[in-house]
Amino acid sequence: MTPTRRGARAALLSRHRKGTVVAPILRRSLDIEVCETDAFDTDLLGTFTGEIERVLSPRECAVRKATLACALTGLDFGLGSEGTFGAGPLGSIIAWNTELLAWHEPRTGITVIGSAAGPSAARRVAVTSTEAACDLVARFPAGQAAIVRTSRGIRKGLVGPGAVRAALEDWFGAHLHESVTVEYDLRAQHCPERRERIADAARDLVRRLQCICPRCTRPDFSPDHIEPGLPCRDCGAPTGRILRRTARCGGCGHKAPFAVEDTSADPFHCENCNP
Ligand SMILES: [Zn+2]
Ligand SMILES: [Zn+2]
Repeated sequence: MTPTRRGARAALLSRHRKGTVVAPILRRSLDIEVCETDAFDTDLLGTFTGEIERVLSPRECAVRKATLACALTGLDFGLGSEGTFGAGPLGSIIAWNTELLAWHEPRTGITVIGSAAGPSAARRVAVTSTEAACDLVARFPAGQAAIVRTSRGIRKGLVGPGAVRAALEDWFGAHLHESVTVEYDLRAQHCPERRERIADAARDLVRRLQCICPRCTRPDFSPDHIEPGLPCRDCGAPTGRILRRTARCGGCGHKAPFAVEDTSADPFHCENCNP
């Protein structure tokens, strides 16, 4: 961490109170003060509920927000966060949430992206009665808001069965006479699971900002280049396990190997021994 970043102020563009998650982590680890700005409607870059289509990649979107945060506040350091839900390594049945937190420095052109990913409990369920909708929402994690979609419209940010019942009765009276869908409201302030993952992305960003190239002091000197081929413990054949991790500086191109913990792979991962 060069002295110019430690103790700096960084702007975070967010309309969904992500600052409450990110700021304590950057303050504690890097003494960086995060100033949240909502001077730009980030929903214009796309929404989870699909009213506005996302045209940028998640990475581009996070960097765009960080760049805008600098432009709107005049600060030298900007932060932008972007989350996605989709199919992941566990297939399309289990939703997979990826959170990116971009750090951008317009003066140096340096961009560093912290990330975190994991399975999500988010789901969308069709129900045909008010009771079923309320039962479903009662089983949501504490603090998780719901979105209800019906032929009459859509309501977001509904916390608890009472709020869902009130919305449905408002539209349909005592008896629901259509199938409606109930789903997680994925906006950060309504989704505790996302806030946890954004915090993980912030910790990854801190780690990356602290990994400094020994030659040119550029941050993000992280062992991101992975080579498989760790030899099998029994037969010595190369396996899909990681043989080597290498850090490569995005500025000066300096490379350095990082140690991997294992010197050989369990035969379980070997094509020869466990075909
Ligand atoms: Zn370097
Ligand atoms: Zn083997």
